[in-house]
Amino acid sequence: MADAQDNALRIVLVGKTGSGKSATGNTILGRNVFNSLVAPQAVTKTCQKASRKWEGRDLLVVDTPGLFDTKESLSTTCREISRCVLESCPGPHAIVLVMQLGRYTEEEQKTVALVKAVFGEAAVKHMVILFTRKEELEGHSLSDFVRGADVNLRSILKECGDRCCTFGNRSTDQAEKEAQVRELVELIEKMVQNNQGAHFSDAIYKDIEEKLRAREAVLKKIYADQLEKEIKVVEKEYAHLPQEEKDEKIKLLMKKHDEQVKNVREEAKENLFQVVLQVIKNVLSKIWQIFWK
Ligand code: GDP
Ligand code: MG
Repeated sequence: MADAQDNALRIVLVGKTGSGKSATGNTILGRNVFNSLVAPQAVTKTCQKASRKWEGRDLLVVDTPGLFDTKESLSTTCREISRCVLESCPGPHAIVLVMQLGRYTEEEQKTVALVKAVFGEAAVKHMVILFTRKEELEGHSLSDFVRGADVNLRSILKECGDRCCTFGNRSTDQAEKEAQVRELVELIEKMVQNNQGAHFSDAIYKDIEEKLRAREAVLKKIYADQLEKEIKVVEKEYAHLPQEEKDEKIKLLMKKHDEQVKNVREEAKENLFQVVLQVIKNVLSKIWQIFWK
């Protein structure tokens, strides 16, 4: 069965608070979904997901809270990474590191190190760097800016195969914003092609996707059995009613069943949250100390 996810381009936004992740998410989605504010502390406290249709495919965006700027506890970080993994299963096509033009700081370096530590070095093959505040280029090109960037930034760019683009999220010119989205999507599509058409998937994603599918199958079976039983009850208890009335009741039951089936993926994610959390905790607790030396 073709499910809607096959056609989706899954994009995870990472980076420090205030870099413009939520604003970038909104530009990608073409509408204001994520809270984006001038605020000293993190506005996005928890991972969120939203999607839009883009030229026949779904662009699914996962917005995350900054994972390092507030020196979050291990357990909060584990929770947010678990949510992010569940929302981007079976794996993101792109991990977009969002940063303000010219502000490559320790937090950005730590974010990249965390992604690599949890998901392996191969994760950089799916990374793109997105600079916000395009207007600060003041007419200069992004490649001019990159050429003049410091050695740390140039080095991470190189690791990411020099994949970068820039967004002006405050622009009121919708056509310009759509052009930025197009540039990002094309960059991601090219990267996906270079990755043999594959999205990112490591052992953690594979394990969790397998568990999600198994849980989905169990839920579907439960709902199918339930429907069958309920139909039998209708046939038996309403045997005296005319056929149309029985059909009407059965139609309602089938409608409820369809809704349940449509929601099994989300339900499976909820059911499995604690299991995923444990997997992430096992990985992260081993490496957590190296981030806070
Ligand atoms: P987040 O914490 O990474 O999600 O960052 P937000 O999306 O909440 O953005 C933080 C602030 O930066 C907000 O005031 C945004 O309006 C602003 N911002 C984001 N992108 C841009 C941009 O491209 N240009 C300008 N001038 N401001 C931006
Ligand atoms: Mg945010």
